[in-house]
Amino acid sequence: MTGAGSGTAAERRSYLITGGAGFIGSHLTDRLLAEGHKVTVLDNLSTGRLSNLDHAGRYERFHFVHGSIIDEVLVDELVREADVVVHLAAAVGVELIVNEPLKSFLTNVRGSEVVIEAAHRYRRHILVASTSEIYGKNTADLLTESSDRVLGSPGIARWSYATAKAVDEILAFQYHRERGLPAVIARFFNTVGPRQSPMYGMVIPRMVRQALTGEAITVYGDGLQTRCFCHVHDTIDAVLRLLDTDATLGEAFNIGAGAEVSMLDLARTIVDRTGSTSEIVLVPYEVAYPNGGFEDMRRRVPDTTKIRRLTGWSTLRSLDDILAETIATMRSELELELAAAER
Ligand code: NAD
Repeated sequence: MTGAGSGTAAERRSYLITGGAGFIGSHLTDRLLAEGHKVTVLDNLSTGRLSNLDHAGRYERFHFVHGSIIDEVLVDELVREADVVVHLAAAVGVELIVNEPLKSFLTNVRGSEVVIEAAHRYRRHILVASTSEIYGKNTADLLTESSDRVLGSPGIARWSYATAKAVDEILAFQYHRERGLPAVIARFFNTVGPRQSPMYGMVIPRMVRQALTGEAITVYGDGLQTRCFCHVHDTIDAVLRLLDTDATLGEAFNIGAGAEVSMLDLARTIVDRTGSTSEIVLVPYEVAYPNGGFEDMRRRVPDTTKIRRLTGWSTLRSLDDILAETIATMRSELELELAAAER
């Protein structure tokens, strides 16, 4: 067992977090450091930000390495030094994946192969980040871990991301089954909270920013498509529980919230909570993504029975909590941007 534990000397471990300067990774880094562990982050800062690690930088037990998961020599060295690997690094975000499909695919397939192979070489416990995207267009009432993948053409960038992540899962599964790699897979559904960048098509930070700057709030399609949003601290809690028991090895787990909201209702709630004068504008998908390469899902709701039964995990934070926090954080960020622009 590699438990995150509460940080007694015997339980303190050394974690390698790939993509640790990103949204989920930086929150995980903060939590592990607070629990007394040693953390090394490997990140190429493509979508991650060093400022996400400001707090982590105060710990001597924290180490940042600027580099890529594609770099086999570097990854080998860092994995060898770690007890546990949390593999989060990936090209993510609908816009990035649509605009840079080849680079994204290579990062997500080849990079993960490098990390998983190194974990196998040194028999390290590894958690591999996957995504609800792998279910594709399956609109079942509840998606269980064994639900079918219903994908569009591989020529559509979104499905190439889903396929790359499925390849990562297959690698982790097969290394576990055939070669005994202690691997667990976390399938994140929409995860939100402070530090999530609005730049790559993440809906809540984008709409909150639009509301706070008085820009039109853009809602794609008819706005009736729904999503469920999980607070990043709940997501981190799930990750640590999955790593805390060997009973999860060789399995995939959905991690997400259950409450569904339509994008139109989300925009209206954000206008309400921010007191914004922004109008809400429906934008057809062909206008939002003029080069094509985009297909949306009407809904996507996780069944989290498996992780709840095995680890006792449940979400503690609501969409209201998420919006309150995102609005407060975005307000401070905008004030800082304004102050910097006036200097
Ligand atoms: P993020 O963009 O904030 O984090 C990804 C990090 O990976 C960034 O810091 C980026 O700089 C880094 N990275 C990218 N390519 C790299 C490379 N070649 N080498 C080293 N580092 C590299 O995104 P996130 O939301 O924190 O996502 C973390 C993981 O969770 C990803 O694997 C993503 O697929 C998965 N995920 C996230 C969500 C979500 O809603 N946030 C949903 C499903 C799955």
